[in-house]
Amino acid sequence: MRRIWMVFAVLCLLCTSCTPQAPLMQSFLALDTACSVKLYGGATEAHLRMAVSTVEEYERLWSRTVPQSDIARLNAAEGEAVALAEETSALLETASAWMQGTDGAFDITVAPYKELWETASAVPSEDVLREAGQRVGAEKLLSSPWRLADGASLDLGAIAKGAIADELCERLKADGCTGALIDLGGNITALGHKPDGSPFHVAIADPRDTSKTLLTVAAADVTLSTSGSYQRFYELEGRRYSHILDPETGHPVENDLLAVTVIAPCGADADALSTACFVMGFDKGKALIDSLDGIEAVFVKTDGAAVPTDGVPVC
Ligand code: AMP
Ligand code: MG
Repeated sequence: MRRIWMVFAVLCLLCTSCTPQAPLMQSFLALDTACSVKLYGGATEAHLRMAVSTVEEYERLWSRTVPQSDIARLNAAEGEAVALAEETSALLETASAWMQGTDGAFDITVAPYKELWETASAVPSEDVLREAGQRVGAEKLLSSPWRLADGASLDLGAIAKGAIADELCERLKADGCTGALIDLGGNITALGHKPDGSPFHVAIADPRDTSKTLLTVAAADVTLSTSGSYQRFYELEGRRYSHILDPETGHPVENDLLAVTVIAPCGADADALSTACFVMGFDKGKALIDSLDGIEAVFVKTDGAAVPTDGVPVC
């Protein structure tokens, strides 16, 4: 009898050592959305706790609606400069570069338009939009030191998730984590590879029925950022309006796209560019991505067709 138990114990040991370690996973609510982190290759519960607290830390730094955040203090400073964390200054640099690099399609000064649409009970009139537009525009964001002119205010909603994923990857790598899949409300970041050395597979959902997959992409050390009107919208007078706004007009974007996923090594770049491409529409958006080295995209047109740029690693 004793021998049977010994054989059973040895078999159990052999089985556990053959089974690839399951990833550690945690789902949580942050950044006004559902987030999850999956850690591979010997990560510990401490890594998981660090991941969640890192996301929360940067939300406290960059959210417009957290009263003492860097962005809330800058917005409330009436044109004065305020002391900002180094990471905030770096993110404002990146954001400014993309405001220029996208001809203003990506614009973190859209906050006055956003407030209008967020609080409206009816579609805002052209007069009201024009008035808000006086506080919107890249020229309102002044640097060295950072401050805001003419009653402008900032909203980092189109770049913060990507930037937070970047910060989290740096910390995970520094802590010896070699593989992770980070999902911040549909912004997916693949850190490294799976334990067997293969890339992660990330599905791009059909915006018309998110239970369906349009195509699957091999991902390693990249962020896939998706912008679309199907994820978040304003509902006014019985109609849905995109939460992504055209900085030129203040109107919700309505064009030949249902969604855009941008794939880039830097999460902040992917995030800013997916919003910009969604504003620009297919032709201009694709031309922009084609002009950028190492950055790819999948455009989903209003007829449901998915158009990947040439270098997308479809699997
Ligand atoms: P994303 O989901 O990354 O495309 O970001 C959309 C969010 O960014 C919105 O919910 C707004 O907070 C903000 N936003 C809307 N339109 C723009 C725009 N054209 N440029 C930059 N931020 C925007
Ligand atoms: Mg974005």
